Amino acid sequence: MSRIVMKFGGTSVADLDKIANAANKVAQEVENGNQVVVIVSAMSGKTNELVGWVRETKPDYDQAEYDAVVSSGENVTSGLMALRLQQMGIKARSWQGWQVPVKCTGHHEAARIDDIPPENMNAAFDAGYAVNVVAGFQGVMDDNRIATLGRGGSDTTAVAFAAALKADRCDIYTDVDGIYTTDPRIVPNARKLHRISYEEMLELASQGAKVLQTRSVELARSYHVPLRVLSSFEDDISDKVGTVVCREKDIMENIKAVKGVAYSRDEAKVTLVSVADRPGVAAAIFGPLADAGVNVDMIVQNISEEGRTDMTFSCPVDQVLRAEKALKAAHEADDINYKEIIVDDIVAKVTIVGNGMRSHAGVASKMFKVLADEGVNIRVITTSEIKVSVLVDRKYMELAVRALHDAFELETA
Ligand code: ADP
Ligand code: ASP
Ligand code: MG
Repeated sequence: MSRIVMKFGGTSVADLDKIANAANKVAQEVENGNQVVVIVSAMSGKTNELVGWVRETKPDYDQAEYDAVVSSGENVTSGLMALRLQQMGIKARSWQGWQVPVKCTGHHEAARIDDIPPENMNAAFDAGYAVNVVAGFQGVMDDNRIATLGRGGSDTTAVAFAAALKADRCDIYTDVDGIYTTDPRIVPNARKLHRISYEEMLELASQGAKVLQTRSVELARSYHVPLRVLSSFEDDISDKVGTVVCREKDIMENIKAVKGVAYSRDEAKVTLVSVADRPGVAAAIFGPLADAGVNVDMIVQNISEEGRTDMTFSCPVDQVLRAEKALKAAHEADDINYKEIIVDDIVAKVTIVGNGMRSHAGVASKMFKVLADEGVNIRVITTSEIKVSVLVDRKYMELAVRALHDAFELETA
């Protein structure tokens, strides 16, 4: 008997009919003789609504209460899924994160799963529950407060359960039938990939491809979890369909320089004008930002006048308030000293990714030329061994994605 994890995202459990459709797929796996852990997201749109309510209360809300409110969407779908399965004659029950427990650490709103002791769920399987339905995206902190894992976090719940319960595979059911060379909603001729390496998927996800949450890919790589993305709206769920995320050496496809293009729409660029250019200044700026839970991404430092420098960084747009607050507090405490903070909150990030970049020269320069030909101005650039990212004005984001997808001929294998 195999044990598998099946995760259903928001559109796949958007109403009772969709929940019934997902439950049919679970039933199929039970009929195949598998023990199943089902991870569910909230109904699509629900989490956004809950986040909106919290933000309406006050801009610098208490993040522990954010988690209490925003995690609740998953409680509803886990119960409804268990009820539907029971109606079909399957012995199933729901679990909220704290009941398992899914033990978390770190910051509220962006917690990390630390441990999932498997005993309780193993006992449920032993007691005859063929299906255990878990509310994704949530867990519990050491102090017993509810935690959430960051947007898209149910993917991470799924992979973490697969690792903790030694599942044979982890299937992520969603509204696309696999992982594409870029978001098929933006580039209609994007091509579906049969396989993609953990490293490439990690870069695509961390640069904005929300088909999988970054942390889920990281965990899958560390714990060798066989991970697959497939559609919840197609009948075939056999191993012929979907996209498998696996080790690079298990991929036989042509190595192109670029494998995919990712984008992240809601970025902001923050510049600290005229900070002292001396040892320790970067630590003095980025320490408080890290403590405030700001995810700083790109960083550039420009020398301006004698002994002073401008420091620019990017972060998600919804973290700008927190960043400004942390920087102003550090300024008031005399830990840093700057002339002003300039925020540009209408930028976006576009990234090309590919393991082949290790062995192909000239990929970055081609990217810059393509964008120049389209009249797109590049504000900040960062690179790693297998990716190049640029920050551009948000209005050019889709144009940049399409132009790069065409120029690197990603529509053909
Ligand atoms: P779920 O609610 O099932 O978790 P998400 O909306 O989080 O689904 O993720 C699926 C979406 O990811 C797709 O509808 C698609 O628009 C988007 N996406 C972005 N990049 C890619 C990509 N490279 N391949 C496939 N889908 C992508
Ligand atoms: N419901 C959460 C979100 O919308 C988690 C998830 O769907 O993965 O971000
Ligand atoms: Mg998702």
